[in-house]
Amino acid sequence: MELTQEIRDKYQPVIGLEVHAQMLTKTKAYSNDINEYGAAPNTNVSAISLGHPGTLPRMNKQTINYAIKMGLAIGSEIAEYQSFDRKNYFYPDLPKGYQITQDITPICTGGEVVIKDAEGNEKGIRITRIHMEEDAGKSIHDIDPFNTLIDLNRAGVPLIEIVSEPDIATSQEAYDYLTEIRKLVRYLDICDGNMEEGSLRCDANISVMLKGAKEYGQRVEVKNMNSIRNVQRAIEHEIERHIIAIEKGEKIAQETRNYNALTNETTAMRSKEAANDYRFFPEPDLQPIRVTQDHIDKVKEGMPPLPNYLFKRYTNELKLSEYDAGILTDQKEIALYFEEVIKTTSNYKSAANWVMGDMKSYLNAQAIPVSEFQITPEQLGELVNLIDEGKVSHNLASQKIFPAMLENPGNPEKIAADNDWLQSNDGNEIEGFLDEVIAENPAEVERFKNGEKKLMGFLMGQLMKKSRGKADPKMATQLINKKLG
Ligand code: ADP
Ligand code: MG
Repeated sequence: MELTQEIRDKYQPVIGLEVHAQMLTKTKAYSNDINEYGAAPNTNVSAISLGHPGTLPRMNKQTINYAIKMGLAIGSEIAEYQSFDRKNYFYPDLPKGYQITQDITPICTGGEVVIKDAEGNEKGIRITRIHMEEDAGKSIHDIDPFNTLIDLNRAGVPLIEIVSEPDIATSQEAYDYLTEIRKLVRYLDICDGNMEEGSLRCDANISVMLKGAKEYGQRVEVKNMNSIRNVQRAIEHEIERHIIAIEKGEKIAQETRNYNALTNETTAMRSKEAANDYRFFPEPDLQPIRVTQDHIDKVKEGMPPLPNYLFKRYTNELKLSEYDAGILTDQKEIALYFEEVIKTTSNYKSAANWVMGDMKSYLNAQAIPVSEFQITPEQLGELVNLIDEGKVSHNLASQKIFPAMLENPGNPEKIAADNDWLQSNDGNEIEGFLDEVIAENPAEVERFKNGEKKLMGFLMGQLMKKSRGKADPKMATQLINKKLG
């Protein structure tokens, strides 16, 4: 059956996402095992991660603080009283036989992640909850052809799970929502946001219903997408699969499906009837915790400015375009650098152009992070001012001073002076150059005097050559007109 646009338009997709983010803590969620990606297999594993009898878990405070940061960033309510629960299931990479999670009292409830809808209007995706839990180990199927290998380094790594309400209406909105979450966890420095390495993972819940229907359709859950783009593709594929099935009069099975990026298809993994019964019960080995308002305030103080806030400030107060504000706030390091530049200069547009243009091109070409950029924000701000004060032309700044600052960072005015690059707005000096030009080009001077105004360009060119590009063009023009006009 062919899915025409007309048929598609009868249906409304409904999407809710569950996002797992691995926390960048030094140690694991409930033990002192080191939390590090890429260590030799099974080296960061202690009896506690393995849940050996007689061992006791202990809550990692850093995890709590990171979860609070995420909650505050999206306007969640932070629970004062929290307890922990066991989620029981058997899996080879879960030697304890259970995960410690928060079933009843998630650390955060409510709040929203703001994206733009198809019309460009702001749309809030409501957050149901964020809870803390621990990761399982990793089963590796593709190294040994006969056996599955187990690496337990990941067992016990702290996770937060961010569960959205089914407010997402298109695969594009899902893409934007995930991009926003990734940007936030990176701003907050709580997760590296790397979907390819699995430190950020997403399960997508998808259903469709006839537009205007009162009840949601049957949902399926899709797993194993290793990029934001693949989440979007998987959702798009599922939407079409659902519509076609419904149009044929078939029922959507309640199941978990696996996404295959090579074929861009989903296949059934397990049905929800046979769904795991996790037998949640309160974790008896871990004390409940209390989070005071005082503590929340302290965590808040340590938070960086967030991209939404900066975006609004750049567009509303600094009058930058949405495009510029988007680029500047996309990466925290760039935004914070720009924040510093505009402490030195108030030409925001020019500062933005330097950061997005010359600076970012250099970083990209060298493949280095902002932290390794040799020019300080103050020096870049001074360069912007130097141009605004008419002391150097923009061209000279970009082609000579900026490269010189990369070689040997320092105050741009001093660099320009040392190299004799400062524009001359010393009238006498410029007049001296002009007199030489007049003496050397009598024929052109005559024609200019007789009204051939287009020779202005020629005269300016000669004058600039004599001054080696340093004559203030405005003043030079005025002088030529005064002497020969
Ligand atoms: P489960 O443990 O069964 O996955 P959760 O409560 O953890 O349940 O997650 C449910 C997710 O599914 C939420 O993100 C929610 O928004 C989403 N969801 C619920 N109903 C629907 C539906 N009819 N269509 C799409 N998504 C849905
Ligand atoms: Mg789920």
